[in-house]
Amino acid sequence: TGDATPGAAWLLADTAARRPAHPALVTAAGPVTYGDLWERARRYAAVLRGHGVRSGDRVALLLTNTPHFPAAYFGALALGATVVPVNALLKAGEAAHVLGDSGARALVCAVPLAAVGTAAAREAGVDTVLTVQGDGPAGAPDLDALATRTAPVDTYVPRAPDDLALILYTSGTTGRPKGAMITHHNLVMNVTTTVVSPFALRGDDVLLGCLPLFHTFGQVCGMATCFRAGATMVLMPRFEAAEALRLMTAERCTVFMGVPTMYLGLLEAARLDPGRPPLQRAYSGGAALPVAVLEEFRSTFGCEVYEGYGLTETSPVVAYNRPGRPCRPGTVGTPVEGVRVAIARADVESRVEPLPPGETGEIVVSGHNVMAGYLGRPEATAEVLVDGWFRTGDLGVQDEEGRLTVVDRKKDMVVRAGYNVYPREVEELLARHPAVAAVAVIGLPDDVCGEEVCAVVRPRPGAVADEALAAGIIAWSRARIAAYKYPRRVEFTDSFPLGPSGKVLKRELVTRYAHRPR
Ligand code: ATP
Repeated sequence: TGDATPGAAWLLADTAARRPAHPALVTAAGPVTYGDLWERARRYAAVLRGHGVRSGDRVALLLTNTPHFPAAYFGALALGATVVPVNALLKAGEAAHVLGDSGARALVCAVPLAAVGTAAAREAGVDTVLTVQGDGPAGAPDLDALATRTAPVDTYVPRAPDDLALILYTSGTTGRPKGAMITHHNLVMNVTTTVVSPFALRGDDVLLGCLPLFHTFGQVCGMATCFRAGATMVLMPRFEAAEALRLMTAERCTVFMGVPTMYLGLLEAARLDPGRPPLQRAYSGGAALPVAVLEEFRSTFGCEVYEGYGLTETSPVVAYNRPGRPCRPGTVGTPVEGVRVAIARADVESRVEPLPPGETGEIVVSGHNVMAGYLGRPEATAEVLVDGWFRTGDLGVQDEEGRLTVVDRKKDMVVRAGYNVYPREVEELLARHPAVAAVAVIGLPDDVCGEEVCAVVRPRPGAVADEALAAGIIAWSRARIAAYKYPRRVEFTDSFPLGPSGKVLKRELVTRYAHRPR
């Protein structure tokens, strides 16, 4: 533990002192200025303190994309508490695991989620539950009502760099969700470096807040970076493409940040809506953005599109394409300042054995963005924090200039008859097929080849999803990529199962199609 630092609460407090009258947020109810938001955060802090929350305690938030989220987040940070954002889509039992595992002292819960929140709190033995957005159910006091009657705390408690700012739970693809411990140093450094580059956010920027705030992408790259820059965030309760396009046009958004499924949705909405927001820059992350989609977005909206790469465990940004540098579609750019990336042999897990440029291996990361570990899980931590590096579980390749390309997740790689197939490469190709609106490539169990490559396709409007189209897509692919890579099976779907941040859940697709006869 080093010296005291301002800590993460400073990200909002400093901007509130500099430009109190500037809108921090815009919602359907109108704007919220920086001065008002910070005052609300300090009032929430005072109420939480009145309920026994102290520096070092954990405060869980089960909130949607409303101003209560940042107010409670920065209110808890101001007290020196650690924030535990809870995925708003969880069922009570899952939320109880997060509350219990993190040792939450209190829960701030939105009234629409109160059934889940109160059940989870009861199961996890969390006594203090405060609700927002309405008259709380019996027994749970309303935080806003209390806040109007409580004097705000004056300022925030300074923290040491290694103190925990956040515990962010992974969505638990493998086993129970793990809590990534994000320190104040992690959070403040990621925000203060990325706000300059790649995001190049200025005080007059307006950003669409359509990513969920409980997930690292919307929370750190979106909310915290926006606040550091003194820009304005237009909050959307949940992403819906036509409404997102309308809002961005009406509120004159200059910056868009989203996951690839949102880019696809906006392109479809733009075919029906002539409205074009004054977008200058768009940032994609969270999953691979097919180059064909990037190019179509760039020409439709007349703005540059920058793709980057990050993970919950790396606070989150690792690398990005950036304004002012040549943007290479299909790559995720170079590591952000203070962060190093290397490619290590993926089959050697107990130590990090670096590979030369041009070779594919596991992406490993070191620098100010790497989490302190998984809360209460020394073995899981030791598996990923190796030799001073964080093993991402993603495969990638770096060129001589340090530019990184994400090849695929290690666990999504398909092994067909002994050959490695990277679904992403097949997806890049299929995204260019005229009848394909969206595609996810998966490996399905196969008696002969071990695994078989399957493309799950959402057809473009007008395309007839029949056997002839499937055969056509297979033949088209076969003419363009190696025999072991092209999909021998094509399935059609109207919608993909999406995770909390809007990413396609491939494991659910595998379950959906694995046992279905061809
Ligand atoms: P879980 O919580 O189950 O671990 P998750 O792996 O999606 O879910 P996140 O931290 O949300 O967790 O996302 C990080 C992952 O997203 C990375 O490990 C990588 O696989 C993927 N990813 C992020 N950016 C990109 C990108 N630009 N291209 C390809 N994959 C990406």
